[in-house]
Amino acid sequence: MRIRNDIVIVGAGLAGMRAAIAAAEVSKQLSIAIVSKTYPIRCHSVCAEGGTAAVMREGDSFDLHAWDTVKGADFLADQDAVEFFVKEMPREILLLDNWGCPWSRTEDGKIAQRPFGGHSFNRTVFAADRTGFHEVHTLYERMLSYPNITRFDEYFMTNLVIENNEVKGITAIELKSSELVLFEAKAVIIATGGAGRLFGFTTYSHTVTGDGLAVAYRAGVPLKDMEFFQFHPTGLIPSGILMTEACRGEGGYLLNSKGERFMERYAPERMELAPRDVVARSMWTEILEGRGLKSPYGDYIALDLTHLGEEKINERLPLIRDAAIKFAGVDPVEEPIPVKPVAHYTMGGIHTNMYCETPVRGLYAAGEAGCVSIHGANRLGSNSTAECLVFGRVAGERAAEYALSKSYYPSVDSLEEEEKRIYSLFREGDESVYQIKTELNKTMDENLWIFRDEQGIMNAIKKIKELKERYKNVGVSDRGKSFNTDLTYAIEVGYMLDLAEVVAIGALNRKESRGAHFRTDYPKRDDENWLKHTLAYYTPEGPKFEYIPVTITKWEPVERKY
Ligand SMILES: Cc1cc2nc3c(=O)[nH]c(=O)nc-3n(C[C@H](O)[C@H](O)[C@H](O)COP(=O)(O)OP(=O)(O)OC[C@H]3O[C@@H](n4cnc5c(N)ncnc54)[C@H](O)[C@@H]3O)c2cc1C
Repeated sequence: MRIRNDIVIVGAGLAGMRAAIAAAEVSKQLSIAIVSKTYPIRCHSVCAEGGTAAVMREGDSFDLHAWDTVKGADFLADQDAVEFFVKEMPREILLLDNWGCPWSRTEDGKIAQRPFGGHSFNRTVFAADRTGFHEVHTLYERMLSYPNITRFDEYFMTNLVIENNEVKGITAIELKSSELVLFEAKAVIIATGGAGRLFGFTTYSHTVTGDGLAVAYRAGVPLKDMEFFQFHPTGLIPSGILMTEACRGEGGYLLNSKGERFMERYAPERMELAPRDVVARSMWTEILEGRGLKSPYGDYIALDLTHLGEEKINERLPLIRDAAIKFAGVDPVEEPIPVKPVAHYTMGGIHTNMYCETPVRGLYAAGEAGCVSIHGANRLGSNSTAECLVFGRVAGERAAEYALSKSYYPSVDSLEEEEKRIYSLFREGDESVYQIKTELNKTMDENLWIFRDEQGIMNAIKKIKELKERYKNVGVSDRGKSFNTDLTYAIEVGYMLDLAEVVAIGALNRKESRGAHFRTDYPKRDDENWLKHTLAYYTPEGPKFEYIPVTITKWEPVERKY
């Protein structure tokens, strides 16, 4: 089947839906398809808890938000993009307010803001601790009002069609029939989210497998800064469910087995509200040095909210209370929550400029799938949902202008080759894709976690190469046509193996410690040699790397203290 539209947006999370609305507002003449492997309100963005950063009050300023972001990023962010981002953000909050997002309010009716790690002003706008849920529902409802947006829910992208450095569309499996569909388009926006399921202990939904990144990479589009992966300080044990940073924003403490607020030793000014890389490393150090609390699931740190009182916890953190009771049997009103650092965010992504343009004509990327880059080596909490809104809009507008300027539809000859590639997985194979995924997660958790060194990374690279070989013998025995999750899982694991290789070799090459990438064998930041972005290009033998400069506008790198 062939479906033709002016613009195809892949991904219906915050970034994809914001892009669709923006494109639809540029012109009613444009036909826009939004394709997603999950139903839109089941996208991963719905899990966002703590809030969305924006300058909304006297006393705060764009320069302060930009400075916090650049310093948090350990100076790897592109400062022109950051300056643009912070200026655009307040408008997005007001737009969502206008479209019905139920932001939490102050007593006098203003939009409330809470403290968040690394932000030196209380600038995180929120809707209790269900911010993403409300943002997604607001955008979804708004999106339904544009007749020129057509949803293709439960379609799984398998490939990008690019010829002569110009995008022509995508291929996707319609999940209810397993039929391969060609979506032809003048412009394509990738908004497929991050790649968090590379790790085993993670806050990510099971669907976040980096598909868009891998598809773009295989099609020749470079991936940027993939070695930078964020570990959030507070994952509930044993599940990894996020205990939002808002727990600490609302006044929660981190305690070791001696009952000490140990952050005093690591970040005396910001304490529990230092950026995530700093807090996660401090917690891991406490655990490694024997000051964690004991549990059958390993050592942990206590997140203490008991002093906040039941009323505040119920008003500001109802989801956290509910999740802690249901998934750990702990009521945060009565006792501390058991937590440890957890894989949480993909700082890297598809290489774009600050207009979300990739090096391929007509191809854009936004949200967690893209790397503009405003997060550099370490994202500040509440800057990601914000990024999805600002750069989702930018991508939608740019793609719309590009599609309007193009008089012809690119045409694609045949689907045959892609059909052959996908359906060849219906074969007998000795290897279990589930086993490969388990082993991949294990090596990532062991060797590319918070503290890395050459030997560990080399072990991971060796293992990933072995898994890639074994993957060639994977077979999908279920030949069912409807919602064949064995087939899509096998494709997802193939994507993840390619991405893991990029993360690992990028981490091996970067011989310094910056933001979330900490090398115990190179513990210092090295601006002379490494103040640069990594670009990884696909080759059949493995990734090829290039490096490009970071854009500095106002803020020269300085030592990062909190
Ligand atoms: C638990 C948790 C809490 C968080 N809380 C916050 C917070 O409070 N504040 C903040 O700023 N950030 C937060 N983040 C980060 C933030 O939620 C995400 O970075 C952001 O929501 C990503 O949005 P997105 O639109 O880029 O992607 P997603 O929301 O992940 O959407 C991706 C879309 O792409 C689709 N897709 C993927 N692959 C394919 C494919 N092969 N074919 C077709 N469709 C595909 C999916 O179905 C989905 O529709 C949190 C993250 C986690 C894990």
